[in-house]
Amino acid sequence: MFCPVCNGIQSLHISCSSCNGAIVDCGRSSDLTGPYAPYEQIEVEPLISDVQVQESSSCKHLLYCSTCKQTTEISVTEW
Ligand SMILES: [Zn+2]
Ligand SMILES: [Zn+2]
Repeated sequence: MFCPVCNGIQSLHISCSSCNGAIVDCGRSSDLTGPYAPYEQIEVEPLISDVQVQESSSCKHLLYCSTCKQTTEISVTEW
């Protein structure tokens, strides 16, 4: 399994749901650490086994709209 967006095979063409403008892929959300993270990461115990299955088959990307100054997280299905 690998993420086609991280590997440059596929690019994200998603427009902002608020302003319909182009939004920028900021990369994997798991790569973002420190003061620039858009929100605090909350450690959650994996109580449900389905969660782990989903984590292994999708790559979370952060998208940023410079117009709305908002970040959106999307899941890219891995191949
Ligand atoms: Zn990815
Ligand atoms: Zn926007």
